[in-house]
Amino acid sequence: MLQITSIEKGIVIDHIPAGFGIKLYYYLKLDKADYTVALIKNVYSERMGGKKDIIKINNEIDLDVNFLGLINPNITINIIENEKIAKKVKLKVPEKVVNVIQCKNPRCVTSVEGYADHVFHLVDPEKRSYRCEYCDDIVIPHTV
Ligand SMILES: [Zn+2]
Repeated sequence: MLQITSIEKGIVIDHIPAGFGIKLYYYLKLDKADYTVALIKNVYSERMGGKKDIIKINNEIDLDVNFLGLINPNITINIIENEKIAKKVKLKVPEKVVNVIQCKNPRCVTSVEGYADHVFHLVDPEKRSYRCEYCDDIVIPHTV
């Protein structure tokens, strides 16, 4: 049995779809971290009926829960204090995202006017599809 050192105070990101942990690691800029971070790959999860990845961060960092919810709302965030789970943060698919997704419509104001904010509203939480506020184009962001 593989033993993974527990963390004292920080964050455990669990139920990450297998293979996505490394991408999330770079999204969260954990490669630049000067504190302890563990990326654990291919852990069997009964709940997921397959493999998952886990990231353990031995530090309190600000996580963008909207962004994580957009990527995959089934990811779980555990806040650790004194080596125990102090809080579980529930993710949900955000209703509105600003400057995360880009509109692909070349005639859209966000393409024409470079400085306009990219504002999207949730259309379908199942598909995680979004509608551009300006041109109504539908975008399904890269999610897992
Ligand atoms: Zn648009």
